[in-house]
Amino acid sequence: MNEMNGAKEDSLLIFERSRPGRIAYSLPECDVPVVPKEQLIPAGRLRGEAPAFPEVYEVDVIRHYTGLSRRNFGVDNGFYPLGSCTMKYNPKINEDVARYPGFSKIHPYQPEDSLQGALELMYRLQEDLAGITGMDEVSLQPAAGAHGEWTGLMMIRAYHESRGENRTKVIVPDSSHGTNPASSSVAGFETVTIPSTARGMVDLDALRASVGSDTAALMLTNPNTIGLFEEDIVQIAEIVHTAGGLLYYDGANSNAIMGITRPGDMGFDVVHLNLHKTMSTPHGGGGPGAGPVGVKELLKPFLPEPTVIKEESGRYAIRGSHGENPSTSTSSIGRVKAFYGNFGILVRAYTYIRSLGPQGLRQVSEDAVLNANYMMHRLAPYFDLPYPELCKHEFVMSGKGLAKYGIRTLDVAKRLLDFGYHPPTIYFPLNVEECIMIEPTETESKETLDAFIDVMIRIVKEAEEHPDILLNAPYTTPVTRLDETGAARKPVLSCTCG
Ligand SMILES: *Cc1c(COP(=O)(O)O)cnc(C)c1O
Repeated sequence: MNEMNGAKEDSLLIFERSRPGRIAYSLPECDVPVVPKEQLIPAGRLRGEAPAFPEVYEVDVIRHYTGLSRRNFGVDNGFYPLGSCTMKYNPKINEDVARYPGFSKIHPYQPEDSLQGALELMYRLQEDLAGITGMDEVSLQPAAGAHGEWTGLMMIRAYHESRGENRTKVIVPDSSHGTNPASSSVAGFETVTIPSTARGMVDLDALRASVGSDTAALMLTNPNTIGLFEEDIVQIAEIVHTAGGLLYYDGANSNAIMGITRPGDMGFDVVHLNLHKTMSTPHGGGGPGAGPVGVKELLKPFLPEPTVIKEESGRYAIRGSHGENPSTSTSSIGRVKAFYGNFGILVRAYTYIRSLGPQGLRQVSEDAVLNANYMMHRLAPYFDLPYPELCKHEFVMSGKGLAKYGIRTLDVAKRLLDFGYHPPTIYFPLNVEECIMIEPTETESKETLDAFIDVMIRIVKEAEEHPDILLNAPYTTPVTRLDETGAARKPVLSCTCG
């Protein structure tokens, strides 16, 4: 990749760079009494010898990690139009605020009186998210979208049980995000998948036919995973509620609706938001995220504890386990995350909300929808559009028209890498053949959108004229075309050095 700079050295593992006796950092002399480790750790848990850590100089460590970081692609390197995953730019003011020592250097076991600022921030964020989603109360604990889904479903479960009802089924449309059926199974429900109409919407007849006295909930994203707004949402809510079920809103990507409409007003009873998508906090690579859940009045007693409350005096406090205020709920589903959630992510999200304000959040949604429609219309002559109507924050196309040149959507995605773009989502949702799903997000300029569109058009021309170029792409990445099936089915995860 970086031949001028010693490509060979760049590709060495940190273990391969190791030489006995090299030291990167020395700790100062211990200035407290030394306690033998045998007194601290039970004998059975003590290892016989030191782990085989690499022995390297500080400069080797820095080059190793800097080299790895350069191979990463992120929103700070370039355009990242992943569908159903909002990879928007993360404003740096969020990072500045999260690094304030008053936020970054506190400890959750400090006395509440010394944590008032942090607690106030969490309380205000709970209120803001309740307002944005139209819910009555919010818990900030869940650490991810899928975790929020599971938390929401556990509350739904507790709700039905408290009423002596045995409801075992969760309905999801066939276009739903993969985490929806997964969360349903992990929460102990049976998942019932219903088909979408030719227009990509929930099929009301199929919904009517599948609800019943065993329906616990319907999980829905609106706009749905195809990027279309479910116009029949009021009727959908009525069908599910009449059958005694509840409505779960997957609000991972709320870029299309913030400041315009609210899940609470559409009839949903529970919602989760992905702060690491909608509220611009960083994500990817499995780092910390946050998937707060909001509920309507009827589910309040089941919310996870502890929660942050405001006492009558105006003081902020933690209610529930290890807070100074005992729990007031006997039906809470309990704690779902250590302490109160991923606090640093909450600070970033709060900063985002306050720096934009209500008008700004609405503008975010309007621009996200505008960008998606602009791109969809410019690409329409070159790809099949299964749902050509007005889209919301994202849209799907099909690459099936390229099959006559022997080209698949995967080849288009691989070729995009050569132009410095992260490819869009491909082969999802499953109900669209050779699917390409694009979410440009609101943070991109018209020039960036145009440049990407021009590359997509160029790739279609290459497919017609020189398909081999696509079949062997990418050319500019550290590794070129990989055997993806082999990597998934027979992963080799260890390295024999030497
Ligand atoms: C990303 C996403 C999720 C899952 O969120 P995680 O934080 O990755 O667990 C759920 N639903 C939708 C629609 C998503 O886009």
